[in-house]
Amino acid sequence: MAKQYETVIGLEVHVELATATKIFCGCSTKFGGAPNTHTCPVCTGMPGSLPVLNKQVVDYALALGLAANCRVNRTCKFDRKNYFYPDNPQNYQISQLYLPICHDGYLEIMTSSGKKKIRIHEMHMEEDAGKLIHDEWEDCSLVDYNRSGVPLVEIVSEPDMRNSEEVIAYLEKLRLICQYLGVSDCKLQEGSMRADVNLSVREAGSSELGTRTEMKNLNSFKAIARAIEGERERQIELLEEGRSVQQETRRWDDNKEFSYAMRSKEDAKDYRYFPDPDLPPVVISEAWTRQIRERQPELQEEKAQRYEREFALSPYDASLLTQSRHLADLFEQTVSLLEQKQIAGAPKKAANWFIGETLRLLKDRGMETEELHFTPEHLADLIVVCEKGEVNNQTAKKVFGKIFDEDIEPISYIEENGLKSVTDTGMLERVVEKVLAQNPKTAEEYQSGKTKVLGFLVGQVMKEMRGKADPQAVNRLLTEKLQ
Ligand code: ADP
Ligand code: MG
Ligand code: ZN
Repeated sequence: MAKQYETVIGLEVHVELATATKIFCGCSTKFGGAPNTHTCPVCTGMPGSLPVLNKQVVDYALALGLAANCRVNRTCKFDRKNYFYPDNPQNYQISQLYLPICHDGYLEIMTSSGKKKIRIHEMHMEEDAGKLIHDEWEDCSLVDYNRSGVPLVEIVSEPDMRNSEEVIAYLEKLRLICQYLGVSDCKLQEGSMRADVNLSVREAGSSELGTRTEMKNLNSFKAIARAIEGERERQIELLEEGRSVQQETRRWDDNKEFSYAMRSKEDAKDYRYFPDPDLPPVVISEAWTRQIRERQPELQEEKAQRYEREFALSPYDASLLTQSRHLADLFEQTVSLLEQKQIAGAPKKAANWFIGETLRLLKDRGMETEELHFTPEHLADLIVVCEKGEVNNQTAKKVFGKIFDEDIEPISYIEENGLKSVTDTGMLERVVEKVLAQNPKTAEEYQSGKTKVLGFLVGQVMKEMRGKADPQAVNRLLTEKLQ
C-alpha cells in the first residue's frame, strides 16, 4: 500500500507597519517616491549616524501582539543580523532575536473542518531592506533605499498548519486584525504583507518533524496555494525515491509553477547576531500595555456579535459586513444616517444594499473592498427616496450603480434624468386602459383563468411608462381593471 503523507507548515509573515516615518529615522515611509529621495544618513548606513526608535512602531507591534493573544516581554532588545548584500547599506539588519517584543500567542482560524488554534511562536520588530532593480539592458543593478528602514513586524507561527486552506485562513485572519487595528494594509501584491512558507512532509501518524524548506516570493493567496501543492509533491517524490529533502530556501516562480533552490538554509549562527550597542533596551511597563489595551478598537468578531445583538442581523450577514473594516464603517455610517431620518428598520435596509448590491458590484468590477469610495450620505438619500416610493427598485439599483462608480448625488441625479416614478394615477390608468385595448386577446385569456399572462401586461405598461412606474401599482391597477 502506498504511504500516506502529512504536510506540516509554519509561516514567517512580514507586515509593513503604516507609520508615517521609518523605524530609526524621520524619513517618510511613503511608497513610490523617486528612488533614494526618502533617505538620510541613518537609513543609508552612513558611518557615525545613530538610530532613534520610533515609538509608534512599538505601539503598533504591541497592539498586534495583544490582538494575537501574545505575551509581552517587559524588556525587549534589538540585535544586529549581519549579512552582506547591496540592499542592506549597514551590512546588518536591526532585528530582534534574543528578546522579541511578544511571544506565545495564537490566532483562531475557521476552515471547512471547523475552528483551530494556530500558535504564534513570537513576534518581533525589524527594519526593511532597500530594493534592488536589475537592469538587463544596461547590464547593471541599481538600488533604491526608500524602503530601507521601513518598520516591519515579523510574526513567526508554530508548525501548526496542515494544508493551504489553513494557511490562507491564517493569513486572512492576520490581515483582518491588522486592518482593524490600522497598523498595516497588508497587501500581498504590493509587498506590505509577505509570507514565507516553511514546509515539510512526514508519514501520517509520525510525531517527528521532517526536514523543511522555506519558500519565498509568494505574491498572492493563489500563488501560496499552488506553491504548497507543488512543494508537497516535490518532497514526497524525493522521499519515495529514497532520497532526502535538503533544508534550503527556495524561490517560487508562479508562471512556471515551479520552485528552485536559492541557497542552502542558513542558521541563526550564520548571521553572527549580537545586541545592537546603539539602541537601549525597550522597557514596556504595565501602564504602557494597559494604555494600548484600552485604545484597542472593536475587532471583527466583537463587531459581528454586536451587529447580531443591536441590529438583529443574522450571523451570516453580520460576518459578511465585517469582513472589511472599511465596509463595516460605511455600513454603520449609513445606518446612523437612516436612523436620523427616522427610517424604520434602518439596519436591515442598509444591510440589504451592502450585502446585495455593494458586494455584487465589487465582484463585478473586480475591486477590493478597500477601494469602495462612495459617500454613505448618498446611499442613505437613495434609500429614503426608495422608501417614499419615488423610484422603483430597478431604477434604484441603476442609480446605486452610479453612486458606486462615480459617487453621484442621487436626488439631483434622479431629478435631472427624469427617473422619478410616475405617481400620477390618472396617467397610469390611461396607460393601463390603452394596453388592455391593444391586447384584447390577452385580456380574455386572463379572464378565462390564465392568470400567468398578467406578467406580460405589466411588462407592456412598464414599457409604455419607460420604466418609471411602480410595478406593484401597475399590477394592482391591471388586476382591478380585468375583474
Ligand atoms: P529559523 O530560525 O531557521 O528561521 P525557526 O525555528 O525560527 O527557523 O522556524 C521558522 C519557521 O519554520 C517557523 O514558522 C516554524 O514553525 C517553521 N518550521 C520549523 N520547523 C519546521 C518543519 N519541520 N516543518 C515545517 N515548518 C517548520
Ligand atoms: Mg526565521
Ligand atoms: Zn532615513
